[in-house]
Amino acid sequence: MATRRRTLLKVIVLGDSGVGKTSLMNQYPNLPIAVFLGWGKVLILLWIWKFSQQYKATIGADFVTKELQIDDKLVTLQIWDTAGQERFQSLGVAFYRGADCCVLVYDVNVLKSFDTLDNWHDEFLKQANPADPRKFPFILLGNKIDIDGGNSRVVSEKKARDWCASRGNIPYFETSAKEDYNIDPAFLCIAKAALSND
Ligand code: GDP
Ligand code: MG
Repeated sequence: MATRRRTLLKVIVLGDSGVGKTSLMNQYPNLPIAVFLGWGKVLILLWIWKFSQQYKATIGADFVTKELQIDDKLVTLQIWDTAGQERFQSLGVAFYRGADCCVLVYDVNVLKSFDTLDNWHDEFLKQANPADPRKFPFILLGNKIDIDGGNSRVVSEKKARDWCASRGNIPYFETSAKEDYNIDPAFLCIAKAALSND
């Protein structure tokens, strides 16, 4: 029988306020955790959850966990989202520490949110200080492609892909948190990228 390995990976989500980071995280469905763990462990998790809420309030961030099956591995993604402080760019060191993957998000209808990607990318590398910055896995999501049937977008797919190429071939996905478009493939890619850093 194949052995199963459980891996916990930390993913952090960065991008300007309002681009849809929290919506994307909440859109991605969680597999029923009770099926994997049994109810006894779920009760223990609830107990831990109570304390983690307190902790999260203290550091001003929030995370959700998502379970994915990749080949023979059960992967738990711990996805960290800011509690709105991205506006002031004052995310504490605890937010970045030990990250396995960084998801950058912009809004295809807002040029400024694309232009600030360089800042987010650099800020992540500065704060998280990964062992090999050139190999650290990033993913870019261009969100809100549903708005106005795509007629109000100001950043073309080509422009986004060119940016990704210039930053070491970052994988790129166009998404809509509102219409649940392309979220599953994006998260599968995120999990694989995070695993590659494990
Ligand atoms: P955050 O500040 O990056 O976490 O952004 P939020 O997730 O709070 O989203 C900001 C606003 O954009 C909210 O009103 C969302 O409902 C909306 N929103 C998020 N994603 C989408 C999307 O894909 N399409 C549309 N039309 N609206 C979205
Ligand atoms: Mg948010």
